[in-house]
Amino acid sequence: MISLQFLGAAGTVTGSKYALTVGPHRIFIDGGLFQGNRELRQRNWQPLPVQPADFDALLLTHAHIDHSGYLPKLVQRGFHGPIYCTPATLELTRLLLCDCAKLQREEADYRNDLRLTRHTPALPLYDDDDVAATLPLLREVRYGRRFDVVPGIQATFHEAGHILGSAWLELDLTENGERRKLVMSGDLGREKAAILRDPEPPVECDYLVVESTYGDRLHDSEPVGPRLAAVVHEAIQRRGVLVIPAFAVERAQELIYLLGELSAQQQISNVPVFLDSPMAAEACHIFERHRECFDHEGSRPN
Ligand SMILES: [Zn+2]
Repeated sequence: MISLQFLGAAGTVTGSKYALTVGPHRIFIDGGLFQGNRELRQRNWQPLPVQPADFDALLLTHAHIDHSGYLPKLVQRGFHGPIYCTPATLELTRLLLCDCAKLQREEADYRNDLRLTRHTPALPLYDDDDVAATLPLLREVRYGRRFDVVPGIQATFHEAGHILGSAWLELDLTENGERRKLVMSGDLGREKAAILRDPEPPVECDYLVVESTYGDRLHDSEPVGPRLAAVVHEAIQRRGVLVIPAFAVERAQELIYLLGELSAQQQISNVPVFLDSPMAAEACHIFERHRECFDHEGSRPN
């Protein structure tokens, strides 16, 4: 029997994790944390309706915590199979999981210090040791290479254009001589992003599971460069400082790239840019090491 079970990202957009069963083999697709309000976060503490130790492998679409942040918890609960992902996702996941364990430790300390908890002491969902046990399970597989995950399941990563290393999954499933193709979208990016390649178009398939985070919204198609230039220009005119809050992974690198482009095209004057985040700086190094994920515009020398 072939079956797909939703363990998250259903009725909500975080906590992505799925159980795919083909005959006697079971694999996870993604292992994400529920994020958002307290009720959602509580779901990370509830037992799964499946036993992680029964699973042979995991396919990870990208490094965002709502797709990867539950991996150490799966390992803590008995999962010990390989976790397949693209090379850039491997490096970003390492960075993000270490940060996630640190944030959880800090939150537990904060709740204990202020006695904000009914559970004494408040504990993190997982700790550095759980992350250390998870990272050696990560295995890199490059885009476009079909590989055997377990007997009956072959997988291919395709560019999703969402964050560095992100992929959608083409899954070839075989059971009792019957073949089925399943496509799992993961999170999909937009076309013409500053650095990343455009998402690859999907292949013909029997079943398609597609994310719908922004499914009820039309993105603004106006190019962002001139709007950013106007804001920077206004700050310079006032002799002010422009503070831009940005996610440490992907958004920060896109902004730096855009500011560099605007400066090179002399649309803004050459002002100093400071990146006030060790994590974003580390993510920049990971971007530099994975130019294979850039489109032709982002990979040209600067
Ligand atoms: Zn994502």
